[in-house]
Amino acid sequence: MEEVPEGWKNLGGRGLTSSIIAKEVPADCHPLGPNNKLVFAPGICCGTKAPTSGRMSVGGKSPLTGTIKEANVGSSFAQKVGKLGIKAIIVQGINEGPYQMVNIGKDEIEFHDATTWSNKGLYGTYEEIRARFGDRVGIASCGIAAEMRGLGSGVAFNDPEGLPSRYAGRGGLGAVMASRGLKYIVADDSGGPGVEIANEGMFDQGRKKMTKALSEHDITKKNGTLNTYGTSALINVINEAGALPQRNFSAGYDERASMVSGEKKRDIILERGGERPHGCHPGCIIQCSEVWVKEGGIDPVGVLEYESVWSLGPNCGIYDLDVVGEMNRACNNLGLDTIEMGDTMAVAMEGGLAEFGDGKRAIELMKEIENKTPIGRLLVNGCVFAGTAFGVSRVPAVKGQGLPAYDPRPIKGIGVTYATSTMGADHTSGYAIAPEILGVGGKLDPLDKNKAELSRNFQNYTAFVDCSGYCLFTTFATVDIPEGFEGMVESCNGVLGTNWSVDEAIALGSSIVEMERDFNIRAGFSNADDRLPEFFRKEQLPPSNEVFDVPEEELDRVYGK
Ligand code: SF4
Repeated sequence: MEEVPEGWKNLGGRGLTSSIIAKEVPADCHPLGPNNKLVFAPGICCGTKAPTSGRMSVGGKSPLTGTIKEANVGSSFAQKVGKLGIKAIIVQGINEGPYQMVNIGKDEIEFHDATTWSNKGLYGTYEEIRARFGDRVGIASCGIAAEMRGLGSGVAFNDPEGLPSRYAGRGGLGAVMASRGLKYIVADDSGGPGVEIANEGMFDQGRKKMTKALSEHDITKKNGTLNTYGTSALINVINEAGALPQRNFSAGYDERASMVSGEKKRDIILERGGERPHGCHPGCIIQCSEVWVKEGGIDPVGVLEYESVWSLGPNCGIYDLDVVGEMNRACNNLGLDTIEMGDTMAVAMEGGLAEFGDGKRAIELMKEIENKTPIGRLLVNGCVFAGTAFGVSRVPAVKGQGLPAYDPRPIKGIGVTYATSTMGADHTSGYAIAPEILGVGGKLDPLDKNKAELSRNFQNYTAFVDCSGYCLFTTFATVDIPEGFEGMVESCNGVLGTNWSVDEAIALGSSIVEMERDFNIRAGFSNADDRLPEFFRKEQLPPSNEVFDVPEEELDRVYGK
């Protein structure tokens, strides 16, 4: 335990993880070697009564991208760490002995040999750990995929039911955790001091403004879009826009996509006795989440997010929610990022390992990972690795990380974010889809190529949100309702005793992105890496027949250097 250094006291979440990594990790280190660190930091308001604010950042140097990485997750684990008065957990060095579990409670930290909970699926081990340490603990872990040092492995967290379904998924941070010799962190906030709030009046004022904005906006309110259908509401919307990638990004529309839509999924969940809506942590008032179950109401998976349904579904030519559910359960069980896994599976299908649409074979291939066969070892390492192994030239990745669920050819702004984000291809780091497709924050033409400012503004705004502890989905409301963003900033001011204006908050976001970019430059990246793969520029996407034609100068304008 150590005091937070003076210069970092007013940071949280991504601001803290990226500051620690940028200062303490050599940019040229091997991500799985002894000099990398893994940092868990709850956001500033995480663990308070602020709505929808149970978010934590996990940061390190990514073995998938070679860049700095922040992956963001909502879980009671994050709130418990915040309530213990802990600003960050830093995992450093390498334990050469058996895998360890670290139990963190009020004023005490214990280490346990985790051998009995290693080399096993996470659904079972989460049950065993809760049986041993109590239902109220929060759990962070890495799975079998990370034990194999798979570059597609994420860090898994518990949902309210104790299922390992909430993920800091992207960038292979699970492998960074496993390579430290650490399998689990268990947090129990019993008797914890709670989050210290410097200015209660300011905090309450901000939290109420946020609650009001979230309760009013059509996307975030009760019975609104996210609450009713979850993130998968986007399946039909993006398919209709001709930008839902099918069969490894070879088409943007397929009429069968409606079979895996959010509307269809909701009906099935309610019919089978799953849960919808649902929060990924206590205190979320949007509640976009759910618990998907098999026929008969068995084998609960947790949420099937839009990104997961797309990557494991249409991107593999699969239009069957039960197959997607089973694959998503396998990813959660093995500790895999669903986006990277879906991109990998689709590339492997293009390379001839299976036919597009063959769900049975796709499920068998997930078993190969569990059994650590040579094919499994290949699939666990992401789509670039699979592309090399199977001789596929159409590999949808930027800086080594597989693309998310929006084809950048008919929606140019999100392509600018994919190309220039400090994280590799990442929709959450600058969600240009909001104005380009959803009409949030104005309505922009998705085919307009002048998107440098748009992407830059979203990237800076998002970097602050990732510090705040609020879920990124609050921004649908805060972008449209200025009092909502004021509330976000004021509630952070209330916790910290700062006096940031909204402009200063965004300037803080911008400084974090700059710091991350500086790390990446020191790691050997340049503007030449801020590009999409060649096939997006050369190959027309049906039905729009668009190519990605944003000039390179426009991409370089995002950072203006
Ligand atoms: S809106 Fe969804 S993802 Fe965000 S905190 Fe709530 S349940 Fe979790």
